[in-house]
Amino acid sequence: MAKLVKNNTIKLKFDSVKNFAPAPESKKAAKIDPQYDLFINGKFERPMSKKYFSTINPATEEKLSMIAEANTADVNKAVKAARTAYDKTWKKMPTAERAKYIYRIARMIQERAREFAIIETLDGGKPIRESRDFDVPTAANHFFYYAGWADKLEYAFPNRKTTPLGVAGQIIPWNFPLLMAAWKIAPALACGNTVVLKPAENTSLTALKLAEIIQEADVPPGVVNIITGAGVTGAAIVNHADINKIAFTGSTDVGKIIQRAIAGTNKKATLELGGKAANIIFEDAPLDQAVEGVINGIFFNQGHVCCAGSRLYVQESVFNEVVRKLKDRLETLIVGDPMDKNTDIGAINSKAQLDIINKYIKIGLQEGAEMYQSSCAMPKKGFYCRPTLFTNVAQSNRIAQEEIFGPVLAIQSFRTDDEVIEKANNTAYGLSAGVWSDKGSKIFNLTSKLRAGVIWANTFNKFDPTSPFGGYKESGYGREGGLHGLSAYINLV
Ligand code: ADP
Repeated sequence: MAKLVKNNTIKLKFDSVKNFAPAPESKKAAKIDPQYDLFINGKFERPMSKKYFSTINPATEEKLSMIAEANTADVNKAVKAARTAYDKTWKKMPTAERAKYIYRIARMIQERAREFAIIETLDGGKPIRESRDFDVPTAANHFFYYAGWADKLEYAFPNRKTTPLGVAGQIIPWNFPLLMAAWKIAPALACGNTVVLKPAENTSLTALKLAEIIQEADVPPGVVNIITGAGVTGAAIVNHADINKIAFTGSTDVGKIIQRAIAGTNKKATLELGGKAANIIFEDAPLDQAVEGVINGIFFNQGHVCCAGSRLYVQESVFNEVVRKLKDRLETLIVGDPMDKNTDIGAINSKAQLDIINKYIKIGLQEGAEMYQSSCAMPKKGFYCRPTLFTNVAQSNRIAQEEIFGPVLAIQSFRTDDEVIEKANNTAYGLSAGVWSDKGSKIFNLTSKLRAGVIWANTFNKFDPTSPFGGYKESGYGREGGLHGLSAYINLV
């Protein structure tokens, strides 16, 4: 299994690591219907557009189901249902009663956790370990957390009067489909708003399963409406005159379109957009832990995370050691069937996204960076990308500046604190960052100077419903999670 090599480090014989016996999760616990309609006013309804589009499993390219495509008339219907539910029911309901419904949703997600995890993995390509251990429990936790606040807003905002905003239009991306729906719906409901939510077109299934739960939980009709479709449907939500708030998570490009669309209206907005997070390793850091944190930050979940640590800055004295450790660890990562519990890196979410990632890998090579890819076996079918790292990267290189949204890491060295702060901040984004050091004073110095909404110290990609999350600069504005997440859905008087 392991042998001693010249420099006295233990080198794993990677072949044996990669030859784990398959441990696939069974698909049986998940029921996927051949076709899904729009969830409007508490009922599943055929779209007025009469159109459906297919959703596929990116790991196998097989069709999973047909999804309704909402047109403007469908959006109008959903917004009308949300407005009526807001005026007649939800706004007036005692806050403790509202809380009960939100708790019920949380418990029902827990009860059906296995089914949610399987569907999330089949529809999105992420490893079952990730959806089972992170996405689904964290989604339930968000509902629990905000249910707790629903009847305590006067304590959240002492000596202030809170009123809901009205109808919230919520548009979410494909990387954390259920979790993003929870991030958006839970605080909105807790504050007394009603919602129209649209999942991303290639990952609608868990949001539609959530609609089933909302129906079974007897949430009053129209309080939550879940409609499906692509950008045109999203734009119809954004432009609807009777929407009071837009909550969007997605690309910076679409975020800018939305900002332009709502300029001059009374609509409030929170935008959680792209990122190009810097992970910074100082020479005094616990290096093995740091390497594991970097791997977790960019390679697990295929780099499909807006806060992924896609840039790595390593202090010069430990640069070679860290890069060697990273390469060794890269070789042990298992790329393949997302339903297998041993898999570290699943499928890239779509062919279009894989093309973008491959384009950036080519750009990195053309820019003169040095590439290292794991030599792992790759599945023959489906959309997959080898975990890739680049050294010899210049700060101006596109792979160090632009969001790739894939398992691609750009590594640079630095000498001093000031240098790395300047390099880390030299990006259009500012969503997250990571600092690895043994010295608390160094960590505090950096966290106060790095322009990022979330900064992890000696860890990475940790989430909790009580912590606010959001960006600086082109990573957007507004915060989700914690008390900040509540204030995004209320008027304070
Ligand atoms: P990504 O690059 O991560 O796919 P997008 O920003 O394209 O991110 O998509 C995120 C969400 O925004 C999806 O639900 C998508 O359908 C929706 N969307 C895309 N274009 C628009 C638009 N012009 N207006 C509103 N929503 C949009």
